[in-house]
Amino acid sequence: MTTITDFLKEDIRIPSPPSIAVRILDAVKKDETSFNELANIISSDPALAAKILMVANSSFYNLPQKIDSISKALSILGTNTLKNIALSFVIAKELRGTSEDRFDFDFFWRRALTAAVGADILSPVISAKNEDTFVTALLQDIGIIIMYLCRTEDYLTVLDEKRASSLSIEEAEKKVFGFDHQELGAEVLKHWGIPDTIYNPVRYHHSYNEIPECFQMASHLLLLSDKISSIYHGTHSAERFQDIKNVICGDYDVKEEDLESMIDSVANKSVEVLSFFEIESGDMKPFSQILQEANDELGKLNLSYEQLTVELKQAKEKAEKFAQELKDANEQLREMVVRDGLTGLYNHRFFQDSMDHELSRAQRYKKPFSLIMLDIDHFKKVNDNYGHPVGDIVLKEVSKAIKDTIRDCDIAARYGGEEFAIVLPETEVKGAAIVAERLRKSVELLKITANDLDINVTISVGMTCHTVSQGKKEKSEMIAEADSALYNSKKTGRNKLSIFKS
Ligand code: GH3
Ligand code: MG
Ligand code: MG
Repeated sequence: MTTITDFLKEDIRIPSPPSIAVRILDAVKKDETSFNELANIISSDPALAAKILMVANSSFYNLPQKIDSISKALSILGTNTLKNIALSFVIAKELRGTSEDRFDFDFFWRRALTAAVGADILSPVISAKNEDTFVTALLQDIGIIIMYLCRTEDYLTVLDEKRASSLSIEEAEKKVFGFDHQELGAEVLKHWGIPDTIYNPVRYHHSYNEIPECFQMASHLLLLSDKISSIYHGTHSAERFQDIKNVICGDYDVKEEDLESMIDSVANKSVEVLSFFEIESGDMKPFSQILQEANDELGKLNLSYEQLTVELKQAKEKAEKFAQELKDANEQLREMVVRDGLTGLYNHRFFQDSMDHELSRAQRYKKPFSLIMLDIDHFKKVNDNYGHPVGDIVLKEVSKAIKDTIRDCDIAARYGGEEFAIVLPETEVKGAAIVAERLRKSVELLKITANDLDINVTISVGMTCHTVSQGKKEKSEMIAEADSALYNSKKTGRNKLSIFKS
């Protein structure tokens, strides 16, 4: 496996720092001439100079006066700060990749710049601020780009390895290359002439436990800045947010709400800084806003859950209503099977069944029961005089009178035509005779109005009883008895009751 030294010695395409960066670095090394030289170097690249002025006048520095020249920027911000701004621009501009790359350079720099902004905002809080903070955080992962550019296929293997396993990026790099991006990044920065105050913390930004005492703070800041960047550009943002909160609020004297507003300001400042670097900020919003939106979404989800419950309830009610309707319809259907359509009384078939039922009951439990049969007198004349529809009205009215006169347990049926039968369970002759007579009387008194005509009808009634002492008796026999009693009523003057006597 290659060592870093082999890797750097290999005749591979290690990008050299942009020449302007080399000149800037050289200039700042020379203490005395640095100010003017640096101003000249920067001014010789108008695009770079314009960008530096933009940064100097941005909310990033929040300076009270307008900076309109590089020398003014230099005198106010200092050579080192300006050097760092310039370095950031030239390196980030140089290592941009192309559209054919299978590595997302924009994402890399978006992440790196957010980390740089995060480091800048966080550094005073953990007392780790210095002039190199921004550029150090920006370049902390430069090793990744170098590895990708020098050994593209191998680095894509690293990324696959990381995706396929639970390895961290450094572990995956070590597995494939034998060293990781923090080691390589530090070596390359050193190789480029970048000061040790920058490359040393880069060397340990993931190896928190191995950091030499002297740049512990700086490396720790990088580690935290990387985590902050992950809140905005990685997965599990809420957990990472909590992690950072635990570390910073636990180890340093920072209130949770202050940290929250710091993390929010990382998003706002990053959007500004990304625009200086001409990198799309995507949809970067303050984390509190992301949380708020997530909560709103959750609220909507709850709302739709409530909506769903309402709809389910409605569906259930609908189903219940439907079931009830079905039940009613079935009952109606059953009724239709046993009822006579015109009069609403039981039909002939039901009467026959009831007779069977009562006969067997009477015999089994030794209970009496009676049967009344009645027929409307001269009904043919009603039809003849007033028409069939009026005849129907009369039939209905007589039926109603029957229903009103009998008890609930009595079974009144239309035997056929204008002839009716009433089964009276557990009723002896005496009781049945009272009912029969009452019936006759009520029909006699019945005033039927049809087509503005008052019509009166009478009925002839025949009755028989099945007594306990009689023992077994046939249905037809009983019907014949009642019928003969009815015939007797007809024969002997109509509108009267005859009781069958054996
Ligand atoms: P009686 O006093 O001897 O019973 O004389 P009646 O005229 O009542 O007897 P009949 O048996 O001669 O006539 C019965 C009539 O009832 C004949 C028939 O047209 C009529 N009828 C039978 N069913 C219906 C019906 O559903 N509607 C109407 N309007 N008339 C019916
Ligand atoms: Mg009749
Ligand atoms: Mg008849």
